[in-house]
Amino acid sequence: MDYTPIKKSNIDQLSVEPNLLNLQKTREAFKWEDIDRELDGLEGGGLNIAYEVLDRHVETSNKDKIALYWEGKNGETETFSFHDLSRLTNRFANVLTKLGVKKGDRVFTYMDRIPEIFICLLGALKVGGVIGPLFSAFGPDAVKDRLGDCEARVLITTPKLVPTAHEILEDLPALETIIIVNKRGRDYDLKDKEVSYEDLMKGASDEFDIEKTDKEDYAIIHYTSGTTGKPKGVVHAHQAIMGHYATAKYVLDLHPEDIYWCTADPGWVTGTSYGIFGPWSNGISQVVYEGGFGAGHWYRIIEKYKVTVWYTAPTAIRMLMKAGEKPVSKHNLTSLRYTCSVGEPLNPEAVVWGDKVVGLPFHDNWWQTETGCIQIANYPVQDIRPGSMGRPFLGVTATILDDNFEKELSPGEEGHLALKKGWPSMFRTYWNKQELYDSRFKGDWYITGDKATRDEEGYFWFVGRADDVINTGGHLVGPFEVESVLIEHPAVAEAGVIGIPDPLVMEVIKAFVSLKDGYEPSDDLIKDIKRFARKKLHALACPRKLEFLPGLPKTKSGKIMRRLLKARELGLPEGDTSTLEE
Ligand code: ATP
Ligand code: MG
Repeated sequence: MDYTPIKKSNIDQLSVEPNLLNLQKTREAFKWEDIDRELDGLEGGGLNIAYEVLDRHVETSNKDKIALYWEGKNGETETFSFHDLSRLTNRFANVLTKLGVKKGDRVFTYMDRIPEIFICLLGALKVGGVIGPLFSAFGPDAVKDRLGDCEARVLITTPKLVPTAHEILEDLPALETIIIVNKRGRDYDLKDKEVSYEDLMKGASDEFDIEKTDKEDYAIIHYTSGTTGKPKGVVHAHQAIMGHYATAKYVLDLHPEDIYWCTADPGWVTGTSYGIFGPWSNGISQVVYEGGFGAGHWYRIIEKYKVTVWYTAPTAIRMLMKAGEKPVSKHNLTSLRYTCSVGEPLNPEAVVWGDKVVGLPFHDNWWQTETGCIQIANYPVQDIRPGSMGRPFLGVTATILDDNFEKELSPGEEGHLALKKGWPSMFRTYWNKQELYDSRFKGDWYITGDKATRDEEGYFWFVGRADDVINTGGHLVGPFEVESVLIEHPAVAEAGVIGIPDPLVMEVIKAFVSLKDGYEPSDDLIKDIKRFARKKLHALACPRKLEFLPGLPKTKSGKIMRRLLKARELGLPEGDTSTLEE
């Protein structure tokens, strides 16, 4: 794949001077202790994420600044200042205290993207609770597994979703209280264990003394996306806020005047790290849209709120590409100055599309639930090499290790992506799975489970998840490379590539493809796509088989589930499908 780098190194071309002007120079000067000093900490010692994202702004000129512009799925709107959110979270902290919630208790939310989700999560952090946000599209088994795994004490949900909880209540002996948020005023009679959010909030005080949490106290449990197997409960401590704050400042390049929009749901780590903690610890106004994906709706949100910085995901970008350029031309998107992407490999075609159609290339960055914050990134002031994840963040040491996890490989060599352990937002454990946690570290390195290469200039290139890399005739082929070529074909909207066993060459490559509107599956089209791939790929990396699907199986957070494609192809058990999008 030959894409010319997109030149971004001329500061004069950028509308705003980036926070990070020179990666190398800043890297040399960078100290996590300085970031620590930029945060406030609690009076008398300790660190609490909720204080850093809300209360500290109440002491500054940000007090009455809008923190949240919320738009509901029916078009209703609400705004909240930092001061409003500080008071409301104090109230909710008082509610939880009255219900007997104590430091270390697990408090889960299970609701749509309504403002109360932010109030509840941050209020729970104020009492020292360990928060677990769940995506509202989860079914009963997914909710049961997660609440059961970490013995959640409180669940906060809505009349629409509470029937799911009723189905599983018997299996959750540790669950003492269900708080019902009835934002839309539905007819609802409280049942056993249930209390009303609105009633309790009415009587609660606006004042609350935040629990004196330490930087090492647990703050968040996030279950991973389940792309490769059963989701794991990744535990983060309050110190993670250092990573959220620093990366939101230097990678998302947030400036005080920005209007920022992160499209991820708080049920996934991107939606908390960068839909709550990163922007608000920097005192930034953000937009939250409750509705789901729709090209027209999304462009309308950008236009209406004059969004300047936009953080989204490859699947969404591919869907925008599929919807074509017409919806873009109907909206004024000139407020946008910087766009980023995370969650899956970002095909070079998608980077270039953004540059061509919106006038801004998407800046890819890489991280995981386990890393808590962005680790490898493209920065506004650097040239983008389409298809690359970028360079390690300040204070992060990334490398490529051999199969024994001992030797660091040279530029161009493919191996295991690893990070030097010890960055502040590193996960502290997998809940109830300490052995699995320990197995992820080899010496000083955290092994990410992804394979990648590094080039001479220090840019990292994703190859595939270690489990997804295909061995064909002794050659290792990463699915991302093949998928990226396939989506360059004008008919292809999405592609998922797997290896299937072959007696001669170990594995051959099979591609699953969904088509753009206006294209019909046919044998001729299969031939044409294969021919197209042959021109761009090594002979062994070309798909031997190709099948059309109306859509690819994805997690609810939008990641292609190759393990499911493989299980279905080979007639094997599908494994955990709790995060599968319906
Ligand atoms: P599970 O661990 O349960 O299988 P998951 O790995 O998908 O799920 P997340 O923590 O949400 O759970 O995702 C992190 C993974 O997503 C990374 O390890 C990587 O494989 C992929 N990923 C994220 N961002 C990028 C990116 N910019 N480029 C390539 N891959 C990415
Ligand atoms: Mg993972």
